[in-house]
Amino acid sequence: MENQATLSEFGSMMEARGVSRRDFMKLAGAVTAAAGLSCAATPRVAEALQNSVIGATKGNLYPVIWIEGASCTGCTESFAQIETPDAATVVLDMISLNYSETLSAAAGWSVEEAKAQTVEAGNYILVYEGAIPRGWGGNALRVAGETGIEAFLHAAEHANAVVALGSCAVNGGWCAAYPNASEATGCQDIMKEHGITNVPVVNVPGCPANPEWLMSVLVDVVLMNDPGLLDLDAQGKPKGIFGQTIHDNCERRGHFENGEFVYEFGSEEEALGYCLYPLGCRGPQTMSNCGVTLWNNRRSWCVQAGSPCIGCCEANPNNPNQNWVQVNTPFYKRHRDLRIGSFVFQPGTVAVSIIGLAAAAFVVHGFGMKKTGRMDGGAPFEKIRKWDKAHPEQAIGTYADPVEGGPVLNDEKND
Ligand code: SF4
Ligand code: SF4
Repeated sequence: MENQATLSEFGSMMEARGVSRRDFMKLAGAVTAAAGLSCAATPRVAEALQNSVIGATKGNLYPVIWIEGASCTGCTESFAQIETPDAATVVLDMISLNYSETLSAAAGWSVEEAKAQTVEAGNYILVYEGAIPRGWGGNALRVAGETGIEAFLHAAEHANAVVALGSCAVNGGWCAAYPNASEATGCQDIMKEHGITNVPVVNVPGCPANPEWLMSVLVDVVLMNDPGLLDLDAQGKPKGIFGQTIHDNCERRGHFENGEFVYEFGSEEEALGYCLYPLGCRGPQTMSNCGVTLWNNRRSWCVQAGSPCIGCCEANPNNPNQNWVQVNTPFYKRHRDLRIGSFVFQPGTVAVSIIGLAAAAFVVHGFGMKKTGRMDGGAPFEKIRKWDKAHPEQAIGTYADPVEGGPVLNDEKND
């Protein structure tokens, strides 16, 4: 009886928000997928969402403080732009966002007071966006009379968990790129420096971070009250989201394996939707599920929209010097390393080994697919790609049969 009453109470609340039961189940499914959980977890996620919405009417909202440090506000913007009625609305209806420089209606003294009271009461989640500058004694960033470091530490040491949102919060991001005059770094680094080891940190990189990743982390940590469900890797990132490369889930992957590449923006190959690797795609190196979660309300994502992945999720909190901007610029040049699975190659090494092992039967671009037989029965391989023949100086692999008139290859030229 009670369960029925709860369901009808929930149904009326969703109706009032313009969300049908079907939409709600789709939302629960999306949260489950964004968290990288099996679809079998969807009913549990739905139940947690439902209980939280009902809890909201009884004053049980979970307090969240969202502090913005040195940043472009991109992660807040990204979160705020989700269409309504959708995840952001539902989640914002379920948490008590007691402080946010950008989203709070209040400002000045009153909002700082709300933060101070929340910190004093404890039992909240800190979402931190942006880098933390250490330069000039921490004075490179000052907020409400405190340095950025003090503001972060006060909020972090009393929190149940810190969600480092976006690559800047994870390890400094673009703010910490060379020459890093403000000595910016990420949350985990500052916490270690100040001996805060008892507060868990969930690192959610991206520039900006996908709002659905934040939503799934909040659902896991805040609503389901089951951090065990949030399986973190050695960098404190949710494995379900950051456990696979972009390349693993890319719709252009078939073209990569067939040796069908785009060498020039505006070309015929681009119109055919070929693989963007020669234009600098960092998909093989970058661990993230962008191609699964998608962006802009699950409409599209970088590679689908025609842009090579620039590796914005490659932020390692254990190594603040491994900054995604420094590692990946210049963005539209082919990367010096190629990672397939757990192997990292220098492209030159790949080319040399393949020449040694394989022979005229397959083209380097195909990375062995012909050899494994996966191409048998498919479209015949071109011995030498038309485009490469016309532009030998820009071809990216070494052919077993050299292009007439040219050295063929070269990996370094494009690096
Ligand atoms: S290199 Fe980039 S575009 Fe090509 S298959 Fe991999 S992720 Fe997709
Ligand atoms: S596809 Fe690459 S560049 Fe685009 S958001 Fe994902 S990690 Fe960042």
